[in-house]
Amino acid sequence: MSPTSPRGAGTGLSAGALPHAEGVLLVTSRMRRIIEIDLANECAVVEPGMANLDITRAASPHGYYYAPDPSSQQACSVCGNVAENSGGAHCLKYGFTSGHVRVLEIVTPAGKIVELGGKATGAHGYDLIGAFIGSEGTLGVTTRVTVSLTRCPHKTVTLLSAFTSMDAGGEAVSAIIAAGVLPSAIEMMDASAIEAAEAAVACDYPAAAAAVLVVELDGPAAEVDAQIEQVTELF
Ligand SMILES: Cc1cc2nc3c(=O)[nH]c(=O)nc-3n(C[C@H](O)[C@H](O)[C@H](O)COP(=O)(O)OP(=O)(O)OC[C@H]3O[C@@H](n4cnc5c(N)ncnc54)[C@H](O)[C@@H]3O)c2cc1C
Repeated sequence: MSPTSPRGAGTGLSAGALPHAEGVLLVTSRMRRIIEIDLANECAVVEPGMANLDITRAASPHGYYYAPDPSSQQACSVCGNVAENSGGAHCLKYGFTSGHVRVLEIVTPAGKIVELGGKATGAHGYDLIGAFIGSEGTLGVTTRVTVSLTRCPHKTVTLLSAFTSMDAGGEAVSAIIAAGVLPSAIEMMDASAIEAAEAAVACDYPAAAAAVLVVELDGPAAEVDAQIEQVTELF
């Protein structure tokens, strides 16, 4: 039997979707349909080649989104995400793909169709989904996936602060976490990243900053408002 490599959108950085010289490349990029949006159970059932961002596009009219958001989310497929246990800027608060998958339909190397997990959250039994997620296509081909949908936050705010050193920016991050604030995202840029961003899109960051910290807060409006005050003071 020829070695088979599953492939979604081909954005993976660990070369798992490269075919064997004498093998078969099994590409899921035309399997992109939403099978069901189940609001009562806050989940979506989708085909393996569906682009990550398309799940959010389909869910957002209902006030939901799909939380794991790799920077490649416009292109990468949900089952590439499953195979790589992908995360993104928001995994600090919302976690990686492994925290958002409820059911996987897979085809094993022996050709058997198996369903792992269950639609209900906290399904009992062995965590076989946990073993499959992150296995980079080595344990089987995912042909259908049920993912959790997350309610859109009431309020989202992005704060930016400049620092005279990377150490000072790092201390601000530690102080925010130590104060019990869990931002939805934190990103820090050093001087060369700031310079590159300025040259590319003229984002008007504070001049001569050695570090820029971007902090995103989300949640109920009253909670976010209180956190804005806390984080501004810590900055
Ligand atoms: C610009 C850019 C930004 C990125 N940012 C991030 C980021 O922020 N976070 C992050 O985690 N990653 C990031 N990545 C890496 C990549 O996008 C992710 O790993 C993504 O999950 C891969 O999805 P894909 O559909 O492109 O998978 P592919 O590249 O097609 O495949 C990746 C792996 O998944 C397996 N696979 C694909 N489909 C299936 C299937 N149906 N069943 C079983 N196995 C399958 C393949 O065999 C391979 O091992 C980035 C990549 C780029 C190019």
